[in-house]
Amino acid sequence: MEFDILLAENAGFCMGVSLALNKLNKALEQISIRRIFTFGPIIHNPQVLSFYEDKGVRVTEDWNEPYSDDIVLIRAHGIPLEIEDRLIKRNVSIIDATCPKVKRAQLLISRNSHSSNCLLLYGEPDHPEVKGLLSYANSRAYLFEDVNQLASINIEPGNNYCLAAQTTQDREQFELISAYLQNMLVHQPLILDTICDATKNRQIETIDIAKQVECMIVVGGKNSGNTRRLCKVAMEHCPACFHIETEHELNQAIVSGFSRFGLTAGASTPDDTINKVYHKLKSMLHAKKTSSSSPLSE
Ligand code: SF4
Repeated sequence: MEFDILLAENAGFCMGVSLALNKLNKALEQISIRRIFTFGPIIHNPQVLSFYEDKGVRVTEDWNEPYSDDIVLIRAHGIPLEIEDRLIKRNVSIIDATCPKVKRAQLLISRNSHSSNCLLLYGEPDHPEVKGLLSYANSRAYLFEDVNQLASINIEPGNNYCLAAQTTQDREQFELISAYLQNMLVHQPLILDTICDATKNRQIETIDIAKQVECMIVVGGKNSGNTRRLCKVAMEHCPACFHIETEHELNQAIVSGFSRFGLTAGASTPDDTINKVYHKLKSMLHAKKTSSSSPLSE
């Protein structure tokens, strides 16, 4: 029996996460005596977080915790403006590792929302990036998660609005939302293109692979939103889909019964973890092939 593994080219760290980790690594190399904090976990991956914890990096979500002279790294999601201001007032040294695409979304919102142009933001409540984006609005801002929620907002058809999205939202949904608003408003809304193609490209490739295989394996932190969404889109085309964090979760129950596998990973999964899963899967499949072709197994 032949076994196949289709490995996604877009699996693993996106540009924003790579840049943030590079900045943290550089800070660790250059600064040995000052305390280094990240404002919130730098990445939704427990293995990477414990690696940095061992190197002395602290995680805080409290602007009051770092003292003057401490270093605070702003992760790829960015932070709300008022928290950045508070950190500056505490004289901490800030390393801004906000992803350039998130920064662009923040600045677009800041430039285009004003008293006569309310912000409508398509995003997840409580998501750190969304909290940051909302803080850049210079107008009233409404947050919604889908068209139904948007429909429940008291939108005045004669008013002006600008529409933006959290960078990792689904582009097709965003287009439906834009069309819905264009139909109901007298003045065309200003549509800000803030969605990041890294997520879209990873999802398109995942769907493409999921259609060709019998079993999908998605590697990434269980608390990583983008990894969970990747599982969801994969499952629509390949119901046998497993979300694992490391190669240790690969077992016979996953591997038995299938011969064609797809392997992808979320934006916060290190290449090293993906490689380990790939090689363990390959060796388990090799062992299965060897045992099924052995005369003793007949
Ligand atoms: S998914 Fe896109 S916007 Fe988000 S951190 Fe990665 S590159 Fe930046």
